[in-house]
Amino acid sequence: EAVRDILERVKDRGDNRLGVEAMGLLEAYGIPIPDGDIVDSPEDARAVAEGIEGDVVMKIVSPDILHKSDIGGVKVGVADDEVDDAYEDLITRARNYQPDANLLGVQVQEMADLDSGTETIVGMNRDPQFGPLMMFGLGGIFVEVLEDTTFRVAPVSESEAREMTEEIKTAPLLRGARGRDPADVDGIVETIQRLSQLVADFPAIMEFDINPLVATPDGVAAVDIRLTVD
Ligand code: ADP
Ligand code: MG
Repeated sequence: EAVRDILERVKDRGDNRLGVEAMGLLEAYGIPIPDGDIVDSPEDARAVAEGIEGDVVMKIVSPDILHKSDIGGVKVGVADDEVDDAYEDLITRARNYQPDANLLGVQVQEMADLDSGTETIVGMNRDPQFGPLMMFGLGGIFVEVLEDTTFRVAPVSESEAREMTEEIKTAPLLRGARGRDPADVDGIVETIQRLSQLVADFPAIMEFDINPLVATPDGVAAVDIRLTVD
């Protein structure tokens, strides 16, 4: 099964942290992710970018670099003819940051619509007392500035997941306050539930963060993930 393979592979490489190479795990649980692929050459990066309409996002993929933007490891709005340079630059930045970093490649990804979309976070960590705790909050700058998050013990029912989307301080933003486009709250609710199921099915998953889960009026897309396995 897809999820088990992904979790086994990380153990084989002697690591317990995964980044966007684990996106297949989200696919397996029916959580929408942007089009894209992980490649290990500029030529392949170009081929993936040409298969995606419009500009793309390119990200370094390494278990040693899980906060990619911190090292300039995320390039947003890359045109087809910029892909080669972007690829080389990402690899250079990663090598400069940590010469012996385990580089798995570069992810080339469809752009999510951040103009009409809201960046949210869905996460989980295992609390010694309560067990798996699902977390939901606003993403982007909001998460650090406002610490606007809420928690429920997994498994999370539909009504509990909906409560999570209603009780954060910035909930009105999701519903379209101040002329914003309303987010697909049903899509968020479904995503929280599906992830709660994933956590129940795989006790080896110790914690994870989907940041951001971009919620537009038309749906949601998980554009970034990191997780830790036992
Ligand atoms: P990290 O959290 O490791 O720095 P992310 O993949 O979350 O890396 O990318 C950082 C930021 O770049 C995101 O919070 C988002 O604002 C933007 N971004 C990343 N991927 C996309 C995408 N596919 N479409 C639009 N914006 C993106
Ligand atoms: Mg992120």
